[in-house]
Amino acid sequence: MESPVRVTSLIPRSPNALSVRMERPSGFDHLPGQYMFLTLGEGATSLIKHLTISSSPTEPFLEVTKGMTGHPFAEALKALTPGDMLAIRGPYGEFTFTGEYEKVVFLSGGIGITPLRSMMRYAADRRLGCSIVLLYSCRGREDILFGDEMESLQRENGRFRSLVTLTRPDPAWTGLSGRIDRDLIEREIPDWRERVFFISGPGVMVDAMSALVTAMGIPEGQVRREVFPGY
Ligand SMILES: Cc1cc2nc3c(=O)[nH]c(=O)nc-3n(C[C@H](O)[C@H](O)[C@H](O)COP(=O)(O)OP(=O)(O)OC[C@H]3O[C@@H](n4cnc5c(N)ncnc54)[C@H](O)[C@@H]3O)c2cc1C
Repeated sequence: MESPVRVTSLIPRSPNALSVRMERPSGFDHLPGQYMFLTLGEGATSLIKHLTISSSPTEPFLEVTKGMTGHPFAEALKALTPGDMLAIRGPYGEFTFTGEYEKVVFLSGGIGITPLRSMMRYAADRRLGCSIVLLYSCRGREDILFGDEMESLQRENGRFRSLVTLTRPDPAWTGLSGRIDRDLIEREIPDWRERVFFISGPGVMVDAMSALVTAMGIPEGQVRREVFPGY
């Protein structure tokens, strides 16, 4: 069943990604990492997509973060203003993390950070004792989503690490560069064998990361995936 919800704010996250924050209907309970269907407009012209809930269950609102692709749904989302109504249906999905594993690695690219952001915020707010390493690949510095928040989570909690690697770094970038590969994982995460891997992002990225962890000998039961088609 769809629930009508009111948009409360729009938050540009990068030149190519926008968060839409909305009221959370009473009784709408979700787990970190789940998604929902969003319907914009009504009747024959309505537009519908599934989007991860990038907010955490510990936050009093719902938020989605959408890549600005220039396609009709993205344009309609961009045109929303606070007070507008849209409809949601959900939550759905089994790509969730509520602290079941003591040590995890989050591998992500671009917009694929959304479920992982929800999980990290949740882990921080609930003071879960688990160790989380986020390895996040983006094209340029301007494409990093939730970068400041991830850094502050890392500063506040010695069991969180946030590592960003850029495939097209600018000359002033002093961080990691290049794609996520075996060398990078072995160098930055010495205990990688003991960790459960959560992989999330566009299909090409998830396929590449799946092949990588398989080649590294990580058993299938130690890998969780969420694919965003359409990128
Ligand atoms: C579980 C799940 C969670 C997701 N979470 C997120 C999220 O948090 N954030 C997010 O941004 N996305 C997320 N997605 C993906 C999202 O649902 C959309 O598929 C994606 O955002 C693209 O939507 P769009 O409207 O911008 O593009 P679309 O219009 O759907 O286009 C998608 C692709 O189809 C091509 N295309 C479109 N129309 C045509 C046409 N007429 N002919 C040929 N090719 C065409 C486009 O070039 C593009 O490559 C998620 C998907 C899933 C399954």
